Amino acid sequence: MAGVLFYSQEGRMNVNCKSCGAPLDEGTEKCPYCGTLTDYGKEKFRERESKKHEDERRQKLDNLPAMKYVAPGLLAVLYVVTGGIYSVYWYAMRLKPLNSLGTKAKVPAWLVGIFALVYVGLCLLPQYDLTEYGLDAEIADNIYNYALGIVIVASGWLAFMARRVLQEYAARFMDRTQAVSIIAPSSVLLGLFGAGYLQSQVNRMIKMNLFSPKI
Ligand SMILES: [Zn+2]
Repeated sequence: MAGVLFYSQEGRMNVNCKSCGAPLDEGTEKCPYCGTLTDYGKEKFRERESKKHEDERRQKLDNLPAMKYVAPGLLAVLYVVTGGIYSVYWYAMRLKPLNSLGTKAKVPAWLVGIFALVYVGLCLLPQYDLTEYGLDAEIADNIYNYALGIVIVASGWLAFMARRVLQEYAARFMDRTQAVSIIAPSSVLLGLFGAGYLQSQVNRMIKMNLFSPKI
């Protein structure tokens, strides 16, 4: 009779313990004789487990680190209209939140500083004729090229460091390989759009419940 369902004379569904065969009342979760879980007991157990997971998930969501959400339309406008200045602003504003995620990878603050300074310098440079300050025309030209080079290298380096931070952080919620293939996977887009691309990935991570959008 073990494990066989039958209907008693009153029409109530009864069940026998699958392990010892003892007749059990409907709604029994665990056989009082041998301790085996009934199908009902297993279902209840699963329900409680999934409720526990749901509670844990909700609690985790409440404790998530915050990252600013930027609406895609606004992001595009900011990026196109302000060009590089949005990048400077983005790294300056995101430096602390990114470096507070507790990842081994960090965005170097000094590099953000150099990027900001040289970028501003580069924007101002064309307004000054450096030869008036006694500089050789060739050297003045070189300064501009060096500054441009530094800005390009610094923004690229920052973009890749920030990506490492985001991926390392995401790896807490998923496989490391999965994180790398999901979060800012395109090096081409990262190189081309730097901060704009990174913000679009932060937006995605907020939608994936990896960050809280409040700040
Ligand atoms: Zn039993």
